[in-house]
Amino acid sequence: MNIALVGIGKIARDQHIPAINNSETWSLAAAVSRNGAVDGIENYVDFHHMLEIRQDIRVVSLTMPPVPRFDFAMAALNAGRHVMLEKPPGSTVSECQALLNAAHQNRVSIYATWHSRMAKMVPAAKDWLSGKKIKRLAIIWKEDVRRWHPNQDWIWQAGGLGVFDPGINALSIMTELLEDPVHLKSATLDIPENKDCPIAAHLRYVHPHGGDVHAELDWRQTGDQIWTIEIETDDGNLTLLDGGARMVINDVETTSDDILLNGEYPRLYAKFAELINGGQSEMDLTPLQHVADAFLLGRRMTTEPFIEN
Ligand code: NAP
Repeated sequence: MNIALVGIGKIARDQHIPAINNSETWSLAAAVSRNGAVDGIENYVDFHHMLEIRQDIRVVSLTMPPVPRFDFAMAALNAGRHVMLEKPPGSTVSECQALLNAAHQNRVSIYATWHSRMAKMVPAAKDWLSGKKIKRLAIIWKEDVRRWHPNQDWIWQAGGLGVFDPGINALSIMTELLEDPVHLKSATLDIPENKDCPIAAHLRYVHPHGGDVHAELDWRQTGDQIWTIEIETDDGNLTLLDGGARMVINDVETTSDDILLNGEYPRLYAKFAELINGGQSEMDLTPLQHVADAFLLGRRMTTEPFIEN
């Protein structure tokens, strides 16, 4: 299937272009970018123009930040194109719902991706946890914003999510793993006095069976970077490390052979092809809802200004 990639920035270059180029299903037929270009294919600056003249391209993948993405997504859906959205699927829960409705009306597929759910050990962790009682789940997601998000002003502006930009990856795994939904009980958001969005967040959830569920998200981590989820159950313990790439069960590292495709993004693109071929859409908004709840309920603590350099 021909596909166009729109918004040629960090994630497009790091993950989307290689995943598409290495796939037997997809062919990168065009790129749309205000500033960049992809070698060897047709490049466009004006998205509406591309939609109009490239009727051979029935699928678009949108990899720009969430706030500007809505207009692109709506235009594509109304032009009868299938749409893949980077995470988070939108800057509000309601706009995502509007996109899902537009996909239904236009009889096309929309896929709100959660790349961390495609991390290697997440399916195996989900299988292992099935039927077990959760006693404790702790998310520890601590990374250095200067290292991973250099010069990304949007990430600090309203709608950019701040530390929830990586944190929502942890929430997407948590909501995939837990059989019983949790809801937020309390939250603290540490917000630099010169930014709109938090640099750290502390979240405590109510679990229906009394499990202790909490999350520590922090962007001020230097040295070792931590993307860990620790889970204690009535029948042993499981830890996901490195964002779900590794898993330890009862102190023993376990791996999975049950992997057909290597990498989160190849798995996302395979899933998107399946959805289109099956005439289906997928948009699970639970992780974004948890972020919205944190912004609703969180106590704001003003912290020192964040100066990048
Ligand atoms: P980025 O490099 O800062 O921006 C991506 C591209 O989006 C830009 O190069 C630009 O493309 C386009 N863009 C930016 N602002 C725009 C605007 N106001 N209007 C229209 N287009 C705009 O961001 P990124 O790191 O790739 O992240 C993009 C999305 O991917 C985010 O939702 C992020 O959460 C997600 N993501 C990022 C990573 C990561 O490691 N960075 C990992 C997973 C997911 P053009 O110059 O081509 O127009």
